[in-house]
Amino acid sequence: SRDDRIARIASAIRVIPDFPKPGIMFQDITTLLLDPKAFKDTIDLFVERYKGKDISVVAGIEARGFIFGPPIALAIGAKFVPMRKPKKLPGEVISEEYSLEYGTDKMEMHVGAVQAGERALIIDDLIATGGTLCAAIRLLERVGVHVVECACVIELADLKGRERLGDRPLFVLVSST
Ligand code: AMP
Repeated sequence: SRDDRIARIASAIRVIPDFPKPGIMFQDITTLLLDPKAFKDTIDLFVERYKGKDISVVAGIEARGFIFGPPIALAIGAKFVPMRKPKKLPGEVISEEYSLEYGTDKMEMHVGAVQAGERALIIDDLIATGGTLCAAIRLLERVGVHVVECACVIELADLKGRERLGDRPLFVLVSST
C-alpha cells in the first residue's frame, strides 16, 4: 500500500545529529539510495503523481535534486534542467540570490533551457526554511515558466517553509517534526 511504501522510505532515511554543525538534525538520504526498493518506491510515488499532468520540465536543485529529478523526468517524458550553484554552468545563465542562516548563496540556470509557457516541477530532497525552493521558483517564473508544484522527499514542518512558497503547491512524502 501507499502507507507501507511511505513507512519504508521514512525508515530508510538516516538522521545524523549535529551535522554539519551543532543543533542541525541532518536528514541523510544516502541510506535511502542503498535500499533499492525504497528508492524505487520514492521515484514511483512521484511519477504516479505527475504522469499525465502535462509537465515538460523537471527542475532539480543541486545536489540532491540531481539524484531524484532525472528518473522522474525520464518516466514522465519531461526534460531535466539542473539548478546549479554559482559558476558551474558553462553557458549564459540567469541567477537568483537567496539567504542562508549565515550569508547568502546563489542559484543559476542556463538561459534557453526552458521557454515561456512551459510547465515545471521543481525537485529537491528536503525543504527546511523554503529559501532554496523560492530561489528556484523565482528563476523559472522570471522566464515565464509555470511552476506546477514543488516536490521533496522530506519536509521539516516546524520551519514552515511551505508558507514561503505562496500559492505554489508543495508535495512531500515524509513530514518530519
Ligand atoms: P532551505 O532553503 O532552508 O529550505 O534548505 C533546504 C536545502 O538545504 C535543501 O537543498 C536541503 O538539501 C538542505 N538542508 C537543509 N536542512 C537540512 C537538513 N536538516 N538535512 C538535510 N539537508 C538539509
